[in-house]
Amino acid sequence: MTEGSLPTYAQIRRLPKVLLHDHLDGGVRPATVVELARHIGYSRLPTFDVDELGRWFVEAADSGSLERYLETFAHTVAVMQTAAALRRVAAECAEDLAADGVVYAEVRFAPELHLETGLSLPEVVEAVLAGFVDGQQQAMDDGHRIQIGVLLTAMRHAARSMEIAELAVAFRDRGVVGFDIAGAEAGFPPTRHLDAFEYLRRETMHFTIHAGEGFGLPSIWEAITWCGADRLGHGVRIVDDIEVGAEGQVRLGRLAAYLRDKRIPLEMCPTSNVQTGAVASVAEHPIGLLRRLGFRVTVNTDNRLMSGTSMSLEMAKLVEAFAYTSKDLEWFTINAMKSSFLPFDERLELITSVIKPGYAAVG
Ligand SMILES: [Zn+2]
Repeated sequence: MTEGSLPTYAQIRRLPKVLLHDHLDGGVRPATVVELARHIGYSRLPTFDVDELGRWFVEAADSGSLERYLETFAHTVAVMQTAAALRRVAAECAEDLAADGVVYAEVRFAPELHLETGLSLPEVVEAVLAGFVDGQQQAMDDGHRIQIGVLLTAMRHAARSMEIAELAVAFRDRGVVGFDIAGAEAGFPPTRHLDAFEYLRRETMHFTIHAGEGFGLPSIWEAITWCGADRLGHGVRIVDDIEVGAEGQVRLGRLAAYLRDKRIPLEMCPTSNVQTGAVASVAEHPIGLLRRLGFRVTVNTDNRLMSGTSMSLEMAKLVEAFAYTSKDLEWFTINAMKSSFLPFDERLELITSVIKPGYAAVG
């Protein structure tokens, strides 16, 4: 790649990438959904044809209907109810990310959604952790190095956040690096789970909060100022606190300024944000403005199955929309690595011995 030229999709795949926001139940292979459904006698899939099912997931998520969007997760979660199924899905997740050139990923899932056939919360976490070990080993055998950190998610409309926070702390030395809350944002503000966040802070545990996606500034404000989130899941609506004048002059409101000053990482997921209507198109995604203004922006996949995407594809779309060079992609990648919940020395090691050499090699 010559200086200033735009990286091709093939080149992007070879670049080392870091992913902080990826849902395990949103990234299952369509073939695996079909096989697991057959195995357990789950008959509610819209089709058992693998290619058709893959397309159905993307179309349902694209439809603009919340019901159809949620139905997609009902199917993936339905086939992830045994230790063997969870272990397999986690292993394949690690393999797929590694094959796409992701060198470090934080993958999240909600243990409370996988209890339907009698697994306990710790059994769910153990199965997923074992799957990631399998997948990292398989990737290594295939010539790819990947490291996975796990985030445990609590559902914001439910009442188990304290229990899940305790679970995250109990597994902190075994691969769980943080905590998250997800689910419908409107009507379920992050302060509803304040006791869990206060507990995590006392335990010096890291956490991120889905905020500023379906709902605006008050949600971001609560996540940061009340709950003390280390990072924001999406956070796209922070642009509501940024004024851009006719001459291009920019004025930041207090909350936007605070986010930038404190270097609070934003886990942005361009394709997903377009699907849920948080933004109109990738070309109009606030990531362009926020990158220009020096916010701590990262690029993520959210739900690879429902968005028909990958880290390389998200980056390729940004290259197309904003003419980003490999220098820009390296900036996003180092931002993500700096913002991960790994210990500082491990972050630094990945930046100096994997990420920088990887970008230097491609050009
Ligand atoms: Zn998400």
